[in-house]
Amino acid sequence: MMRIGVIGLQGAVSEHIEAVRRALVASGQQGEAVWVARPEQLEGVDGIIIPGGESTTIGKLMKITEIFDAVKRLAESGVPLLGTCAGMVVLAKRGDEQVARTKQPLLGLMDIAVVRNAFGRQRESFEAELNIPILGEKPFPGVFIRAPVVKEVWGDAEVIAEFMGKIVGVKQRNMVAVAFHPELTTDTRLHEYFLRMCRGQF
Ligand code: GLN
Repeated sequence: MMRIGVIGLQGAVSEHIEAVRRALVASGQQGEAVWVARPEQLEGVDGIIIPGGESTTIGKLMKITEIFDAVKRLAESGVPLLGTCAGMVVLAKRGDEQVARTKQPLLGLMDIAVVRNAFGRQRESFEAELNIPILGEKPFPGVFIRAPVVKEVWGDAEVIAEFMGKIVGVKQRNMVAVAFHPELTTDTRLHEYFLRMCRGQF
């Protein structure tokens, strides 16, 4: 039975747990999503999700709880990882001046440089149809809330989604990071894609 750990320290945790449940049903699989507040709850998981919220807070709480090192170790050993919005920031190797100023910890797992709150005040929250070829032809509803963007990728990181000329989705080996909130829509395709990765298909 598939078990997905959702890092539950701050942010859109229950929404991701619910989205995993819907994706499991949609793909006819048995499994569960568990709320992770301590590192030992990550032992044996098939995949890990770092939700959106406030990346400064999530990073700091991950350090305090020692979930930070556990996630790093598991991701490096090949366990699939999905980071959304603030989760994307936490996964990055490089941040912007906001990241430097707050001294927020970054896992440094993905070869991406992120810019926090990149759409400015006028566009703090919006929804846009995204073309994400790995999810099929139908546009994906992208919910952006004070979203980051990726300003640079390197190594074997691949761009999977762009919006207005900006990179908003990246995949690298066992990891996927998106700037939007797939857990806030009824479209389960991104979570289903992640579950396929958790079954070893990537
Ligand atoms: N602006 C937040 C950050 O950089 C992310 C917002 C979100 O996750 N919805 O931490």
